[in-house]
Amino acid sequence: MSIAELASQVKSGQRKAADLVDESLKALENKKEYDFFISDVADRARSRAAEVDMQPFGRLAGVPFIAKDNFLTFGGKTTAASNILRPFDAPYQATAIERLEAEGAICVAKANLDAFAHGSSTENSDWFTTKNPHDKSRVPGGSSGGSAAAVALGVVPFALGTDTGGSIRLPASFCGVVGYKPTYGLVSRSGVIAMASSTDVVGPLAKSVEDAALVLEVMSGRDELDSTTIDRDEAPYINLENEIKGKKIGVVQEYMSKGLEPDVKKIIDESIEKFRQAGAAIEESSMPSLPLALAVYYIVCPAEVSSNLSRYDGQRYGFSATEAKDLDESYELSREQGFGAEAKRRIMIGTHVLSSGYYDAYYKKAQIVRTKIINEFERAFEKYDFLVGPVTPNVAFKIGERSSDPLQMYLSDIMTVAANMSGNPAISVPAGTSDGLPVGLQIIGPMRGDRGLLGAARAFEGLNR
Ligand code: GLN
Repeated sequence: MSIAELASQVKSGQRKAADLVDESLKALENKKEYDFFISDVADRARSRAAEVDMQPFGRLAGVPFIAKDNFLTFGGKTTAASNILRPFDAPYQATAIERLEAEGAICVAKANLDAFAHGSSTENSDWFTTKNPHDKSRVPGGSSGGSAAAVALGVVPFALGTDTGGSIRLPASFCGVVGYKPTYGLVSRSGVIAMASSTDVVGPLAKSVEDAALVLEVMSGRDELDSTTIDRDEAPYINLENEIKGKKIGVVQEYMSKGLEPDVKKIIDESIEKFRQAGAAIEESSMPSLPLALAVYYIVCPAEVSSNLSRYDGQRYGFSATEAKDLDESYELSREQGFGAEAKRRIMIGTHVLSSGYYDAYYKKAQIVRTKIINEFERAFEKYDFLVGPVTPNVAFKIGERSSDPLQMYLSDIMTVAANMSGNPAISVPAGTSDGLPVGLQIIGPMRGDRGLLGAARAFEGLNR
């Protein structure tokens, strides 16, 4: 059943929000072995359900969801899966959460993630590693792994994630759900724990494109609390025409070449063939700077991370080392004990590339190449309606397989980061399976082309049925 149908059943009194919330809370317990959530928000969820049932309201009336634990929410702690925020109570809620609640949606739990969203597997969580719903010995992808697993396990109809370098699309691909990264600025980042502010976006994970589109419909648009937000489309993101005939689709050559697992390549090739048969014009598209995107990302992102993490000094938020003798030692010990290895690694890389002696050599150069990537996307979209390719070169990898080698882990993001550097909207749609493990198709759209992109993704769902 779609989210819209569920909400209309609640509104007509056929179903009770209280029952939907109870079912989700029960499912949380039953599927606990997958370690996909950090905490539930049971008390608040139940009292909100009672409110909704008194006088059902909104386009998401009574619909339960799970939020990645880097969204500020009431009713429980907000930790970003980092020890340094373990005791943190949010003083306000994220705009995305407020907008969902205003339409009757109910947050039931906070999903696991890589601490501060740094990662591609949830193995950087200070709590536990989430298990892939399709194979418990494998990762769910990251950093929104808990959110993707929750949807794949059927615990909630949708979940919220954030995508700074691929963290919605990658877990969506690994878990076999839809993951949507909107155009940069389309959804407010207010109340979302910052990772890299120039690429962070909020987006939905859901079972279908239409469900994801409805969640976007509710969350999107300008917010005075986030000056980087943009106007949403006047026309709705839902009920889109999904005509693919006559559309021009570019197949990203840089993503289709070496390093791609044969099964992944086969599934992507078959998906492209389906577009062709539906009447799309398919061409090979090449963007020469694309192979540099990963290197650029891993300079720009840590630079912004090092700045954003400087606020966690043991004085203002969350954890504070108690044995410190003076203020300086308190800063030092709180950060030393509160941050995990990956946060520290990024702080060191980030401060290094921003330091006066290395700024020109790394950060400045990276920003120049970033501009080239933006220009190449712009040029590509003068020619094509959409770009397609894989989300990642492989299916979900084994837990532990990459965690000791950061470079290996960073390579998981090789096909997702470019759209973050440029801000373009992109989606992962389930395209097939390889030995039972899901593979997602990535479709990228032009800036602010969210409506068209969602329409194409819906069309693909139909073709792939
Ligand atoms: N895996 C990428 C990283 O570790 C992206 C993370 C994200 O999108 N939050 O930086």
